[in-house]
This record gives sequence, C-alpha cells and structure tokens, in this order.
Amino acid sequence: TLLKCADSAMYQSKGTGGNHYSFYVADMGAQSVEHLRMEGALQRALQRQEFLLHYQPVVDIATGNVSGVEALLRWKPHGRPMVAPSDFIPLAEETGLIVPIGEWVLETAMAQQVAWLRRGLPPVRVSVNLSARQFLGQDVAQRVAALLAKTGCDPRWLTLEITESVLMQNPAAAAETMARLANMGVQLAIDDFGTGYSSLASLKRFPIHSLKIDRSFVSDLTQDADDAAIVNAVIALAHSMKLNVIAEGVETSEQLAFLHEHGCDQMQGYCFSRPVEPQGIEALLRAAEAA
Ligand code: C2E
Ligand code: CA
Ligand code: CA
Ligand code: CA
Repeated sequence: TLLKCADSAMYQSKGTGGNHYSFYVADMGAQSVEHLRMEGALQRALQRQEFLLHYQPVVDIATGNVSGVEALLRWKPHGRPMVAPSDFIPLAEETGLIVPIGEWVLETAMAQQVAWLRRGLPPVRVSVNLSARQFLGQDVAQRVAALLAKTGCDPRWLTLEITESVLMQNPAAAAETMARLANMGVQLAIDDFGTGYSSLASLKRFPIHSLKIDRSFVSDLTQDADDAAIVNAVIALAHSMKLNVIAEGVETSEQLAFLHEHGCDQMQGYCFSRPVEPQGIEALLRAAEAA
C-alpha cells in the first residue's frame, strides 16, 4: 500500500514556518552587536534550559510504519519566540558552543529513547545530528560511549548523522571515528547527501548504514528532470552498495509516489509530519500500535 500524504497542499507555501525570526540585520555595526548579544544569550541558554528537542518521524515508504525519529534542536529563549536552528547553529559552530550544546542533544535524545521504551512503546530508532566540530574536534566515540552508559540507551537504536562535507574534511580521522562508533553498535548516516562533492564510491571506505538525500533534490523532483535523475541514481547506487536510502523534505504525494516507485526505503517530510514534541511522537506510536 502506498503511503498517503497527510495534506500536502497545506504545507507547500509555508517556509520553515511559524514565528522564527532572524537575528541578523543589514547594517554591519548593528550586526556585530547583535552577534555578540546572541553569543552571550546562547552561552546562557544551556544553564537556563532554553533548548528543547523536536522529533520528526522517519517513515518506511513500503509499509507506512514509523521506523524512527530524527531529533531536531530548538531554542526558545525566555520571553522570545522559538529560534530556528539555521539562525543559531552556524554561530554555535563558530564559537565552539556547539560542542556542549551537541552533548546536551545527544544525552537528551538518548534519555528520550529510554523514556519511550519505559512507557511501553515499541523501540524506535533515534537519529541525532553531529556537527563538524563535535565529530572532528573531540573524542566523540568516547563521549557517545559515556552517554550511552549514563542514559542506558541501547546503541543499536541510535543513529548518528554526519554530513558529507564533514567526512571529506578529514577522511582518515573520520573513518577511524566511524569504525569505533560502528563497533559499539551505533548506526551512521550521511546527511544532506548530494550537496557535497563526494562520489558514492568514495563512501565505500566508511562504515555507513544509510544515506539521506538532501531536501534540495527532493523538492523539485517532479518538475526537474535533472533532480529526478539524480535521486534515481542515488537510490540505485546506494542499494547496490547495500545502503539504506532516506529522502528528506518530502512535501507532496507526487514526490512520495516517485520515491515509492523508485524503491526509496524511507522518508521524512511535512507530507507525513513536521518535527513535533516528544508527546506527539508518543501519540503517533500508540495510534500505530492500536491500528
Ligand atoms: P537537517 O539535518 O537536514 O534536518 C532536516 C531539516 O529539514 C529540519 O529543519 C526539518 O525540520 C526540515 N524539514 C523536514 N521535512 C521538511 C519538509 O517537508 N519541508 C521543509 N521545507 N523542511 C523540512 P530544522 O529543524 O530547521 O533543522 C535545520 C538544520 O539544523 C538540520 O538540517 C541540521 O543540519 C541542523 N540541526 C538541527 N538540529 C541539530 C542538532 O541537534 N545538532 C546539529 N549539529 N545540527 C542540528
Ligand atoms: Ca539530519
Ligand atoms: Ca538537509
Ligand atoms: Ca534543480
């Protein structure tokens, strides 16, 4: 049975939605003041517990089952609207704050996975994004091992997402770190695939489980023959390398039908669900169990 889009038309014209606001203004002087103010605010955000995670379902295209969720970071400064990751992650990267923030994300997502299990839900794969600094700068395998032990999270249900560009920055170090993570039982996914310059063949040296096709290729899939050809080729080649393929940013039933027809394994997108609070995921999993 072909998975149906919830209400694709509803989502198409909305951007990343809602009440995000940009910290950046055109004037350079004002921009650097704003930049500093924001850096301070980001620094305090962890102790003030202003971060939270939303989770977006990852859906099995052939069955329609929710097979996992991706943890997506949100910042809700007190008395201000929610800030989108694109408005603060680059600064957090630049200042190195992404390391403690990323650590918080890892621990929170692992603890959430354990909490869902304890609440009687079926196991759900939780995917966490790792930033370049986190992945290349610190001993990430050791940090992950420590947090797995602390939270009691089962590594077999954890996926770490790394972008293609991070892999290519230092392939030898990346391969070693990934081997350590893979030996712990953690799965690894290449995020935003297609936006970097690596070939699929160059990925052979890394112990990768999945490829995530970037939203930029998915959004024009049904209008742009080039994008359709790229997506098609990525799915076919990935499968020949025994990799699981996930399409990001699926918004319409036409996109979904194309992906289904071409054998894409999983998808994420507004077509099925936006990222939601943990309670929303629990409700979804319970509804699926009852059905
Ligand atoms: P990403 O890892 O590629 O995550 C997918 C992004 O696409 C998310 O944006 C998600 O909300 C959005 N998305 C999902 N489905 C659709 C759709 O159908 N249409 C559209 N237009 N968008 C869709 P979000 O949550 O704003 O995150 C943006 C980026 O910020 C992420 O891109 C990731 O690179 C980064 N990010 C988010 N959370 C974390 C984190 O905990 N750590 C790190 N290092 N980066 C994170
Ligand atoms: Ca991701
Ligand atoms: Ca992406
Ligand atoms: Ca195009």
